[in-house]
Amino acid sequence: MNRSLLGTLGMGLGSVACEAKTPQNETVSTVPIVIATWDNRKATKAAMDALAKGQSALDAVEAGARVPEADVKDTSVGYGGFPDRDGNVTLDACIMDEKGNAGSVACLKNIMHPISVARKVMEDTPHVMLVGEGALDFAKAKGFEEENLLSENAEKAWKKWLVKKEYKPKINAERHDTIGILAVDAQGQISGACTTSGMAYKLAGRVGDSPIIGAGMYVDNEVGGAAATGLGEYVMKTLGSFLIVELMRQGMSPQEACEEAIRRVVKKYEGTDEAFQIGYIAVNKKGETGAYSIRKGFNYAVYQEENKVFEATHMV
Ligand code: ASP
Repeated sequence: MNRSLLGTLGMGLGSVACEAKTPQNETVSTVPIVIATWDNRKATKAAMDALAKGQSALDAVEAGARVPEADVKDTSVGYGGFPDRDGNVTLDACIMDEKGNAGSVACLKNIMHPISVARKVMEDTPHVMLVGEGALDFAKAKGFEEENLLSENAEKAWKKWLVKKEYKPKINAERHDTIGILAVDAQGQISGACTTSGMAYKLAGRVGDSPIIGAGMYVDNEVGGAAATGLGEYVMKTLGSFLIVELMRQGMSPQEACEEAIRRVVKKYEGTDEAFQIGYIAVNKKGETGAYSIRKGFNYAVYQEENKVFEATHMV
C-alpha cells in the first residue's frame, strides 16, 4: 500500500470501522470489567476472580498479567518468550494503580514475573523504573528466584533464526502477544498492567513501549485506561496510551479515542509495510470499552458479565 493511499484510507475508513460490532454496542456498560489485549481470556478470568474475591483492581491486573507470564506456550510474554538476537529472554513490564502510582522494569532477565517486580518497584521504592542488572538485583533482594526462561521451543526458533539472522520485526505472528490488561472494579477504581518479552530477536538492550508509562499502558482514575500492543517504537513515539486517556478526558468514547490514536500514528509515520501494526484497547470509568488496530488480526478479551473475545475493527 502506498503512502497516500494509506493516508486516504486513514481519513475515510474510521467511519466504516465504527459500524462493526464492538462490545459496547452489544452490552450495557457496567463495572466491574476487565479488558486485555489478544485472546487472553485466562488472564481476564484470573483478574475477574480476584475482583470477585474482593481484591483491588491492582491485584486483579497483576493476577491477570501473571497468567501469560507463566505460560511456556506464550512466546511473547515471560517464560517461553522468544529471546533477543543473542539468545537472552529479556522482559519489560509496567503497572499503575488508581492513585496514579506507577512501577516498571525493563530488560529484566531470569525472573518469570516481571509484573510483580514492577509492582514492588512502585510500592517499595521512591522510583518508577528499574532496568537490567539493577532490576534483577532488586528482584532478587525482594525474594524473586532466578530461573531459565528460555524454553526449548524458543531456543529452537532462535537457532533457526540464527541461520539467516534476518532482522524483520514480525507482528501478529502469534494470536497471543504482549498483554495489556485493564480492570475497573465495582467502585470504579481503575488499574492497569502490561508485560512482554518484546520483539523477537531484538537487539540486546532494546526496550519497547510496554514498560513505558503512557506508552504501553496508562490509567487515570478520573477517566479510564488504555494499553497497547504491536510495533512498540511507534507507540513510544506517540505515547499512545496516554493520548487515548487524554482523548477520553476530552469527551471521546474509548472506541473513538483508540481510532484517533491510530489515525494519528498512521498519518505521522505513514507506515507502509506489514510490520506496521499497532493495536489499542481502552476502557472508561463507566465500563465502556474500545479497541482498534492499524491492520486486521488484532483481537482482545473482555470480561464483563461474560468472558468473551472480540476481533478489533481496523484501519486497513
Ligand atoms: N509492543 C511490544 C514491543 O514493542 C511488542 C508487541 O506487542 O508485540 O516490545
